[in-house]
Amino acid sequence: MAHQWQGIINEYRERLPFDDADAVVTLKEGGTPLVRAEKLAARTGAEVYIKVEGANPTGSFKDRGMTSAITQVVKEGTQIVACASTGNTSASAAAYAAKAGLGCAVILPAGKIAAGKLAQAIVHGANLVAVDGNFDDCLRIVRELTEKYPVALVNSVNPYRLQGQKTAAFEIVDELGDAPDIHILPVGNAGNISAYWMGYNEYAGHTTAASMDESATRLEPHATRLPRMWGVQAAGAAPFVAGHPIENPETVATAIRIGNPASWNYAVAARDDSRGWIRAVSDEDILRAQRILAEEVGIFVEPASAASVAGLLAAAESGEVPENARIVCTVTGNGLKDTATALAGRDIDFDPIASSLDAAVAALGL
Ligand SMILES: *Cc1c(COP(=O)(O)O)cnc(C)c1O
Repeated sequence: MAHQWQGIINEYRERLPFDDADAVVTLKEGGTPLVRAEKLAARTGAEVYIKVEGANPTGSFKDRGMTSAITQVVKEGTQIVACASTGNTSASAAAYAAKAGLGCAVILPAGKIAAGKLAQAIVHGANLVAVDGNFDDCLRIVRELTEKYPVALVNSVNPYRLQGQKTAAFEIVDELGDAPDIHILPVGNAGNISAYWMGYNEYAGHTTAASMDESATRLEPHATRLPRMWGVQAAGAAPFVAGHPIENPETVATAIRIGNPASWNYAVAARDDSRGWIRAVSDEDILRAQRILAEEVGIFVEPASAASVAGLLAAAESGEVPENARIVCTVTGNGLKDTATALAGRDIDFDPIASSLDAAVAALGL
């Protein structure tokens, strides 16, 4: 019988801070597709794979961190969780809180959440508050809230989030047989780049500053090498490129519209220790990469997710992609969450035709 994926904690428990007695809160997240992208290989001269995190239960990689964060909350007996969110964290927190029977409070920047993500938080029964401010303001409020009230913080400053998220690196190594040469991903609050770097290191038998215990140094290594980490920000929200926080971040890629990343030091370590970089791409390049992924690879991602591929294409255009390098791009969230941005500027007013084959053939120009 074929193995059925059991969720990241059950699949990788010996490398996570849980033991067999812990009751796992899971929606069977992880085990996402790693898709070879021949058209992107042709455009870049590299061997390119796309890690499709939009295939997670709530449509983003946030589910990997949420299964471990919520499992720990239940273990500790807290009844309510809270998060600040650009959308996907709240969608994921609301779903996992529903599964676990917990209350979920969500603090959002007013008017800056894609409709699909807002719908998710609402249908899963979260208690929503919209703030006249940006994500960074929301995170400040929720940090204070969770310090003063018996409410658990499930943003990525919660170390259990990064523990779950590191498993994406394990899956890539398990599938490719070793780490790729280069790993590219979008950078917003910078938890994910930190988590991948931890995952690649732990699978190679090392720990990083983000590691929670020494298990990686006891267990048999599964990788012999580490990738370079290339992080990609949106030009209007690029604090790592500026070298300091950005006051009023602005980008069409709302999931990375963050000016003051919480995991700053971990991300800088991932960049420098891997001899990688964190750069910025324009919104225009992000939307172009989104279209290329949809039209040439068959994967519909939300704008923030396309930043990784936009970064790859920009590096290729400036001749910085080593020939035949093995490259994995993470695409972080599902395109269905934000159809408004994907359809902007397109003609979607179809004039109805007569209901006959002839009319259809004529309209299709066949
Ligand atoms: C959260 C998120 C990001 C940013 O990840 P960080 O860990 O905050 O850097 C990027 N893309 C999508 C779709 C996200 O939901």
